[in-house]
Amino acid sequence: MSDVQIQQFREQIQHAAASKTALSIQGGGSKSWYGNPNAHTPLLTSGFHGIVDYQPEELVITARAGTPLATIEAALAEKNQMLAFEPPHFGAQATFGGAIGAGLAGPGRISAGNLRDYVLGTRLMDGQGHDLSFGGKVMKNVAGYDVSRLLPGSLGTFALILEASVKVLPKPASTASLRCFISEARALKVLNEWAGQPLPLSASSWIGSGDANADGELTIRLAGAVAAVQSATVLMKSTLGATELDPAIAAAFWRDLREHKLDCFHALGADDALYRLALPAACPPIDFSTLASSGTQQRVLEWHGQQRWWHGPADASTQAKVKAKAIEHGGHASCFRVGSNGVEQRFTLLSDQAHSAALTAVQAQLRKAFDPSGVFATGRLP
Ligand SMILES: Cc1cc2nc3c(=O)[nH]c(=O)nc-3n(C[C@H](O)[C@H](O)[C@H](O)COP(=O)(O)OP(=O)(O)OC[C@H]3O[C@@H](n4cnc5c(N)ncnc54)[C@H](O)[C@@H]3O)c2cc1C
Repeated sequence: MSDVQIQQFREQIQHAAASKTALSIQGGGSKSWYGNPNAHTPLLTSGFHGIVDYQPEELVITARAGTPLATIEAALAEKNQMLAFEPPHFGAQATFGGAIGAGLAGPGRISAGNLRDYVLGTRLMDGQGHDLSFGGKVMKNVAGYDVSRLLPGSLGTFALILEASVKVLPKPASTASLRCFISEARALKVLNEWAGQPLPLSASSWIGSGDANADGELTIRLAGAVAAVQSATVLMKSTLGATELDPAIAAAFWRDLREHKLDCFHALGADDALYRLALPAACPPIDFSTLASSGTQQRVLEWHGQQRWWHGPADASTQAKVKAKAIEHGGHASCFRVGSNGVEQRFTLLSDQAHSAALTAVQAQLRKAFDPSGVFATGRLP
C-alpha cells in the first residue's frame, strides 16, 4: 500500500515538474494559516501514515509523514517517553511531517533544544520524484552533509518528507510547576540567574498586560530527578513566594500555552497581529508602548525571555517597528498570526537578516539540486 502511495506522490510531482506548476504539501492542514498563503494544487500526505519503527530502548521513532502527531505522542506515552521539544499541534489533525516542516517547538525548547536537533534521518522525495534517504536512526550517524536538518522550518518548500526518524526522551522522573506574580524585569533577572545554575528548569512563562510596570504571572516548570525538583521547589518558594500548582492544572497550562489556547492568545482583534520575537538571553524588558497605542498589547514571554509574543496592530508600519525593535536588541521578529482582517502573513525574511553571499549561494544550489523545476516553490516561506 505504501509503495502505491509513493508512486502516486512521484507521479504528481513529476507531472507538476513537467507542467512547471507548484504543489503545496499539506498534512492535516492544522497550520495552513502559518506562512504566506498560496493557492497551488495540494499534495496531500494524510493518507500516508503509520509508525514504521519504534524502539523505546534505542530512543528513536520512525514514522510516515502523514501520521497524526497525537498517534506518535500516544505511542511514546505508553512507554513513558516523549518528544522533548513539545511541538505545538494547532489542531487535532496535526501530522508528524507537518510538525517537522513547521519546525516549531513548545515550552520545553529552552531546556530540551530545537526540533531540528532531534531529527536523526529522513526519507524524502525531491522535485524530480527521486526517493532519497538521509541520516539514520542512531545519534552517532553524523557522516556527510546533514540534509535532514534542512527540512525543519522549510514549510514544504524544499522537498516532500516521506518518513522521519526522531530521537525521543524518557519522561522526567519528577515535575513540579510553581507560580507567582512579579514584574517582567524581576522575572527575567531570576530566570537568567537560575538558567546559569544547575537547577532542573524545564520551562518558563511570564504573562503580562500592556502596562509595562505591572506585575504579571510567572510560571516555572521544574523537571528531573526527584531530589533536584524538590530542592528547586523549596528555593523558588522562598525566593519568589511562589506556590505549587496542582499537577493536572499545571499540565493543562503548559499544553494550552503551547497550543496558544490561553486567554492571552485569544484576544486577537480583526486588525491585530500576534508577533513573535526571538531574542538573546540577556535582552531586557521591551517597551512596546512606543510601537502602538491601540490593541491589547498583551505580552507573553517564554524560554526565559528568549521567545516573546506581543499583540499589536497588524499594519505594515507596526510590523516594521516590531522588526526594528527586535533587531535593535540583537534578535528578530515575525508576524506569526493575523486577525481576520489582517494583512498578508509576513515572516522575517532571511534576506532581511545579515547573512553572507556564500549562504545565499548554498541555498540556491541546494534548491537547484533538489527541486530544479520549482515544484515546491510555493512562496509559502519567503
Ligand atoms: C537557547 C536559545 C538561544 C537563542 N539565542 C538567540 C539569539 O542570540 N539571537 C536570535 O536572534 N535568536 C536566538 N534564539 C532564537 C532562535 O534563534 C529563534 O527562535 C530561531 O528563529 C528559531 O530557530 P529554529 O531552527 O527553531 O527555527 P524554526 O522553528 O524552524 O523556525 C522559526 C521561524 O522561522 C521561520 N523560518 C525557518 N526557516 C526559515 C527560512 N529559511 N526563511 C525564513 N523564515 C524561516 C519558520 O517558519 C518559523 O516561523 C535563541 C533560542 C534559544 C532556544
